[in-house]
Amino acid sequence: MTGPSLKLTVLGSGTSTGVPVLGCHCAVCSSSDPRNSRTRCSVLLEWSGRKVLIDTATDFRQQALREGIEQIDSVLFTHAHADHVHGIDDLRTFTLRTGNAIPAYADRGVLDRLKGLFNYIFSESDAPGYRPRLQVNEVVGPFDLFGQTVVPIPLLHGPGESLGYRVGNLAYIVDCSALPESSWRLLQGLEVLVIDALRFREHESHFSISEAIEVAKKLRVPRTLLTHLTHDIDYPRHATGLPDGVEFAYDGQTLTLPLLKN
Ligand SMILES: [Zn+2]
Ligand SMILES: [Zn+2]
Ligand SMILES: [Zn+2]
Repeated sequence: MTGPSLKLTVLGSGTSTGVPVLGCHCAVCSSSDPRNSRTRCSVLLEWSGRKVLIDTATDFRQQALREGIEQIDSVLFTHAHADHVHGIDDLRTFTLRTGNAIPAYADRGVLDRLKGLFNYIFSESDAPGYRPRLQVNEVVGPFDLFGQTVVPIPLLHGPGESLGYRVGNLAYIVDCSALPESSWRLLQGLEVLVIDALRFREHESHFSISEAIEVAKKLRVPRTLLTHLTHDIDYPRHATGLPDGVEFAYDGQTLTLPLLKN
């Protein structure tokens, strides 16, 4: 690919428990297919030589080791549920090495929640060596990051809310059970959609697989990756039943798409 590009790495494709689920001996949890092994939901985006993490999932350290991530230039938070934020302390290793704070982006509610959950990180009185240093930015609308516009996409997540993010023609929308009317127009013209698709059965806070496919169809996205998956999904068995252009995400999956200069 010539010209600027955007690389996506699926760090984690699993729901909040991860797969295998502790104590579960079902066929998927016992499977030796690596695509049935799912760490907590997160992706890494790379453009212009920068690495942008979306969420600090519970398994962030293992994901970073697996993918050889030695640098994080920014973090975007979708929401403050445990599975999406509990790896936050491992950002410490990166900030210790560089001495620089990592720019972190989240909406006001999520920032407040993070401050409540991880009080020590935001406390100026704690020694900097014992906490990751974050440079906090409140997301109130689209913002520039390393020469690209990042567009926040408001999402409904059961009774709560979450933020998806769009960079170029790629959008990442977890956790999500419905799209507010105003978010549909932010998702036009996508090439790649990574979307919450928990399981086959419905759930009040997540799209089911058929609901996620319906969203992708409505948006006419050429390539859709279903993520935040439970152990109900047996990759080799169920992947063949998906419509053209729709696939299950798996840990370690990568793809690259062209990026237009802003
Ligand atoms: Zn989640
Ligand atoms: Zn299981
Ligand atoms: Zn959630």
